[in-house]
Amino acid sequence: AVKRSGKNGFRLYSGHLLDQDERRQVLERDLRHALERGELFLEFQPICTVPDGRPVCLEALVRWRHPEFGLVRPDVFIPIAEECGLITSLGEWVLEDALRAAGRWRAAGFGEVRLAVNVSPLQLMQPHFAEMVGRELGRSGVPAAALELEVTEGIDLRGRLQVSHSVDGVRALGVGLSLDDFGTGFASLSRLNDLPVGVVKIDRVFVMDLTGDVERTRRRYVRTLIAAMVAVAGTLGLDLVAEGVETPEQARELIALGCTRAQGFLYAPPLPEAELLTALTRMTQSNPV
Ligand code: C2E
Ligand code: MG
Ligand code: MG
Ligand code: MG
Repeated sequence: AVKRSGKNGFRLYSGHLLDQDERRQVLERDLRHALERGELFLEFQPICTVPDGRPVCLEALVRWRHPEFGLVRPDVFIPIAEECGLITSLGEWVLEDALRAAGRWRAAGFGEVRLAVNVSPLQLMQPHFAEMVGRELGRSGVPAAALELEVTEGIDLRGRLQVSHSVDGVRALGVGLSLDDFGTGFASLSRLNDLPVGVVKIDRVFVMDLTGDVERTRRRYVRTLIAAMVAVAGTLGLDLVAEGVETPEQARELIALGCTRAQGFLYAPPLPEAELLTALTRMTQSNPV
C-alpha cells in the first residue's frame, strides 16, 4: 500500500518514500488500468470575456483519482501517458467524455459556450487523428464549430507531415485550434503565420510577473510582450486568452494592455460537471473586475 505525502511525495505505508524511478514505475503500472477502472475524470474551467467576465468557453482538464495516492495532477501523469503510449486512448477518452458534457450544457441552455480540449502533440502525429475527432463529434451531436483543440508546442512540430495532415483534417471539419502556453515552448510569433490557429493563450508565467514583487525590467518585458501579442492578435484576427489570472490587479493590467479574454482562479477554478450550470448562470450575471 502507498500513501501520498506532501508535494510530489509518494510514500509507502511502511514509511518508505518512493524515489523518482519507483514512483514513475508505480504510476505507469496503475495508469494502464486507470481508464477501465473509472479513476479518470474531467473538470471544466471557464474562459471569460473581460472586463465583463462572461463565460465563452469551458476547458476540459483531466484528473486522476488514484486509489492510494489520491489526486494526481495531469502535469505528472500526462508525460507518463505520452512516454508509454497511453496518450492515444487517454486522449480519445477525454474528447469523448468532454463532448458528452458539452452536449449536456448545450441542452441546458448554454449553447453559446464552446468546449476546449487539450491535445498532446503526439496525438497529432497519429495517422487517424482527424478521423477520430470527426467520429466523436458525430456521436456527440456537438457541432464542430463549438470545439476548440488546444495544442502546446513542447516539442518542435514544424515540418512534421503527419501533424499538418491532422491539423488540416480537423480544420476541414470546422474545429478550432488554440496555441496553448504561448511563450514557453517552441512556438514563436512566426508560428502564428503557418499554423491555422484562431486562439493564442498567453502562459501564466507572464501574467504572474505583471504585478507584485517583480524586478522592474522583468515587469517591463512582460508588459511589452503582452502588448505586442495584443497587437499581433488584432492584426491576424486571433482571440488572445490570458491564462492563470488570479487577482483583480492582474486583470486590470491585462485589460489596460488590451486583453479581451481571460481564464483563472479570479473568474473560476476548474469545476466538476455537477457545478457547471450553477457557475455558468452566476457568471453570466456577475462581474469580478
Ligand atoms: P493548461 O492546458 O495550460 O491548463 C491550465 C492549467 O492551469 C490547469 O492546470 C489549470 O488548473 C491551471 N490554472 C487555471 N487557472 C489558474 C490560476 O489562476 N492559477 C494557477 N496557479 N493555475 C491555474 P492542470 O489542470 O493541473 O493541468 C495542467 C496541464 O496538464 C494543462 O495545462 C495541460 O497542458 C495538461 N492537461 C490537462 N488536461 C489534459 C488533457 O486532457 N490532455 C492533455 N494532453 N493534457 C492535459
Ligand atoms: Mg490548455
Ligand atoms: Mg496553458
Ligand atoms: Mg500547461
